[in-house]
Amino acid sequence: DGDMVNLALNITDTIRQEKDLKEARRKAEAASRAKSSFLANMSHEIRTPMNGVVGMAELLADTDLTEEQRLYADTIRNSGEALLVIINDVLDYSKIEAGKLVLHNEPFDLEHSLHELAMLMQVNARDKGLELLVDYDMFLPTRFTGDPGRIRQVMTNLIGNAVKFTQEGHVVVRVVGLPDSDDTTARLHITVEDTGIGIPADKVGHVFGEFNQVDDERNRKFEGTGLGLAISKKLIGLMGGDIWVESEEGKGSTFGFSLALPVDIPPDPELLRLPD
Ligand code: ADP
Repeated sequence: DGDMVNLALNITDTIRQEKDLKEARRKAEAASRAKSSFLANMSHEIRTPMNGVVGMAELLADTDLTEEQRLYADTIRNSGEALLVIINDVLDYSKIEAGKLVLHNEPFDLEHSLHELAMLMQVNARDKGLELLVDYDMFLPTRFTGDPGRIRQVMTNLIGNAVKFTQEGHVVVRVVGLPDSDDTTARLHITVEDTGIGIPADKVGHVFGEFNQVDDERNRKFEGTGLGLAISKKLIGLMGGDIWVESEEGKGSTFGFSLALPVDIPPDPELLRLPD
């Protein structure tokens, strides 16, 4: 009888412990959501006045100023823009964490938008004497349905990093893919390869973590929030893909991601024509 009572007590105890654990987990999740939501609201509220500061500094620089005054106005604008980049990163990160980021779904031309982006980033690359190339698999369709803005954000982060952490050589963006058997979806494999400083073997596993910069010494001369890759990883995850990196210190890095996207097949104009 005593054994039975003990057993019953043990079971009640276990049930209570599990209940406590569940309760604690629920509270922790609620706290984490509250934090993300606070950060998201906060950065949103900061963004609006900051846009005012940047916009007005820009207008001011266009007025009749002495050289010294123009330098001040430009500094206000540049600092404001740098702050906006950080705020946008924090906003995106906390939106994703709070489960509030909604992906768009629209047709777009991947090849065209990659070339456009590369052209934009070419300016920075050329300043450093780097070659920036896009190599798009010619057998792959170019039109897909997805979130072009978010894909562009990931590409901007990867190409931006590749240019930032490379002193000489090249940055190559490669897109290969396999259409599914019925040609309605393509499995894309996009890589950004650089010949830059690379990442030490013991650090490479952490680069997708938040606020993770490989080392403070090395990063002091490069600006950044250390949020870019964490956001990219989360965005690719939301789109159902994978992201990875291979790197050798002193030789270079290759960041890549895979995505399965529906192929956008524009309606055949012949079929749209009304019968005579
Ligand atoms: P950051 O804003 O610092 O660039 P990221 O999240 O984009 O933040 O990158 C995190 C860190 O990973 C960088 O600070 C850098 O140390 C390392 N890293 C990212 N991309 C590269 C690259 N192409 N080559 C070398 N190191 C890189």
